[in-house]
Amino acid sequence: MKILKFGGSSVKDSAKIQNTINIIKKQLGNDENCAVIVSALGGTTDALLGLINKASKNEDYLNDFNNLKNRHLECLKELKINDNSLENIIDSTFKDLENKLNGIKLLKEKTLKTIDSIISIGEILSANIVSATLRSQGSNSSTLDTREVIVTDNTFGNAKVNFKVSYSLIKDFFNSHNGIVIVTGFIAKNAEKETTTLGRDGSDYTASLIGAALDAKEIEIWTDVDGLYTADPSIVNKAFPQSEISFSEAMELSHFGAKVIYPPAIQPASNKNIPIVIKNSLNPEGKGTVVSSNTKDIRDTICGISSINDISLMRLEGSGMVGIAGISKRIFSALANKNISVILITQASSEHTICFATKPEEANLSKQVIDEEFELEIETNKIQPLIIENDKSIISIVGENMRSCPGMAGKMFSALGKNGVNLAAIAQGSSELSISGVIDKSDVKKGLKALHEEFFFPDNKTINVFLIGTGLIGKALLSQIKKHAQVLEKQSHYIRVTGVANSRYMKLDSNGLDLDSIENGEDSDAQPANLDEYISKIKDIGLPNSVVVDCTASESVVEKYLEILRSNISIITPNKKAQTAHANTYSDLKAAASKRDIHFIYETSVGAGLPVISTLNDLLKSGDRVIKLEGVLSGTLSFIFNSFTGEKTFSEIVSEAREKGFTEPDPRDDLNGIDVARKILILSRESGYDFEIDDIDVENLVPENCRDTKDIEEFFSLLKTHDSYFQDKLNSAKQDNCKLCYMAVLEDGKAKVRLESISSDHPFYNLSGSDNIISFTTERYLERPLVVKGPGAGAQVTAAGVFADIIRIAS
Ligand code: ADP
Ligand code: ASP
Ligand code: MG
Repeated sequence: MKILKFGGSSVKDSAKIQNTINIIKKQLGNDENCAVIVSALGGTTDALLGLINKASKNEDYLNDFNNLKNRHLECLKELKINDNSLENIIDSTFKDLENKLNGIKLLKEKTLKTIDSIISIGEILSANIVSATLRSQGSNSSTLDTREVIVTDNTFGNAKVNFKVSYSLIKDFFNSHNGIVIVTGFIAKNAEKETTTLGRDGSDYTASLIGAALDAKEIEIWTDVDGLYTADPSIVNKAFPQSEISFSEAMELSHFGAKVIYPPAIQPASNKNIPIVIKNSLNPEGKGTVVSSNTKDIRDTICGISSINDISLMRLEGSGMVGIAGISKRIFSALANKNISVILITQASSEHTICFATKPEEANLSKQVIDEEFELEIETNKIQPLIIENDKSIISIVGENMRSCPGMAGKMFSALGKNGVNLAAIAQGSSELSISGVIDKSDVKKGLKALHEEFFFPDNKTINVFLIGTGLIGKALLSQIKKHAQVLEKQSHYIRVTGVANSRYMKLDSNGLDLDSIENGEDSDAQPANLDEYISKIKDIGLPNSVVVDCTASESVVEKYLEILRSNISIITPNKKAQTAHANTYSDLKAAASKRDIHFIYETSVGAGLPVISTLNDLLKSGDRVIKLEGVLSGTLSFIFNSFTGEKTFSEIVSEAREKGFTEPDPRDDLNGIDVARKILILSRESGYDFEIDDIDVENLVPENCRDTKDIEEFFSLLKTHDSYFQDKLNSAKQDNCKLCYMAVLEDGKAKVRLESISSDHPFYNLSGSDNIISFTTERYLERPLVVKGPGAGAQVTAAGVFADIIRIAS
């Protein structure tokens, strides 16, 4: 006897029903007999509960009522079922529903018993529709209303099955029926013949009961995904289906939220050792997942991660609990007496605190029950009243292998910690099959994704880049990432551009943006720019390994750095503003990053792509001491003085540099030395000095009377009058076989920026073009300093530096 179960997602509408019927026929082959358990048409149970809710609050539900009725009638029409008796069933069922809803409206009361009698109609209707369709297409099909064969207690909404009686009734029924029997999932009856239900998602349970009663060879659960995945595929897009898992693993995963199978459904099948196969009705050829007792030990890690996204955490605390026997028993008996189901329990080793988690709707009742139970202790201050923490989630890792692999818990907690997910409580299942943590509800997506990467893709970490600024550097970075994407993937570095924003628009997509479409800028997916919103969306998306790449020179982005870092998002930037703001800002940012073990990298703010800051840090970290640091840190001023050989006047050279685009739009922004001062300030701070910008002694190359001119033309004409000053400086340098060089120096606890005359034995003497050069004289590099030299400006090399920083954190 074949047992197939189709969930609401497989009978959602006429097309899905037809697809289901095709699968039934194919699976059946030459077999005559099979039991097909069906759920209500997808969404029907929720819709019925919605009607009950509205009726009880005296709200208008007519529209919803008609929609639900029409959905069922349309299925008949679209499936071309000409069956008057079925139309009559639908009509009378909805008449009956109307009466019941009226009753609820009048009494303003909805009991669990009435609710069960109403929501059962979803399964009754769908079973009749599927069976009638089969008959109209020539199959031998009948229906079984499981209220005839599954007997339960009186726990309406979540009834407990009397296995002995039910199994015998099921066997009797199938002994005298053949063909394709379409069975109602989810519903049952009590001893008084009143309708009960088996809990939300209970049709899986019905299938397992029928399979166990009939000693079936296997039970097929057909749903809308390819099996039991390593995590909910609707949240974690890299999740994949496991081909085999054990009954206990499936039980644990579903207990902690894997909705694809209802936890109680595992027991009847596993008691009789009947494998459950989970398959996708949208991909019938797929292998699916086999849940059984004989899984081979094929995994070297966990089998999956699941979450219950909305729970309440209760905390009972007090000195009166320490060393006293029977406290837990009192807590859990009190809760059990009220039918409150406890999802997770943890106790601090001091016995001072016991935590447990329940569904949020059971939180207030739990408090009432516990506070009553411990009334005496609370009065005498030995125990505090129960504390409720709402908006929590449980996240769990599950796997048989956990028993034999040490370090799983550490791995789990460090992956969560690295991504800024705080744990409010931790519990390990007594079977050592799962470890669970209670976290904030807002962190659940991020937590799932982070754990999934950690356990299933430990070698290829995806870095999610949120770019701000699409000027020359931002654009160059995007095109470099695009060009290099495939090579990176081969090396298991995944860099995904997940967001882009500039001063006009912003775009985000948690699956990664299409880099071609980013180049087109403001397409239909783009929204108007709003920095606050962009940052709050980055936080909401909650991807692990997120990095904001700030390619602007903007102060307003820098103002957000602390907020970004505190949200456990790294920052990479060529922007100098943050590192040169007040020393407290600089140290706060660095502290925020190091506390969270995330990155704040601004390597490219000095010397663009040249490894300046990292070289300095490597020297310091390895115990070296900086004696002197010298640098030509401005590409513009490097070009100007390397070209100033006497053939052309100083003002001619500045003008030429401007025409070539080597200077800022106003060359005074280069000549005033501020930019160089900022860079030596950064290097000084990295070396341990808490300087402010005013502590840097800067020689401003803009002559006094050129500083406040009405425009650039006037500036140049006044600069001409100072050509002889610069020429004299050059001549006297030349006389001593020296060269002019505008350089920054950090020595003896002082930093200065000066136009110096350097001799031919100085490492900077042969500098050419617009290159930057930095020399580190240290205790270890005393005789011959360590020198870093190369192009220190330009969009391409700066972007390349930023790109290298991104790759570095991906490694
Ligand atoms: P049905 O209507 O067939 O009963 P459900 O909606 O109850 O289907 O269950 C299927 C859904 O369970 C999937 O669409 C998926 O989003 C969700 N799900 C959660 N966790 C998992 C998991 N680990 N593996 C597969 N699906 C999961
Ligand atoms: N229709 C019920 C529900 O939505 C049972 C099921 O689908 O398994 O919970
Ligand atoms: Mg289901």
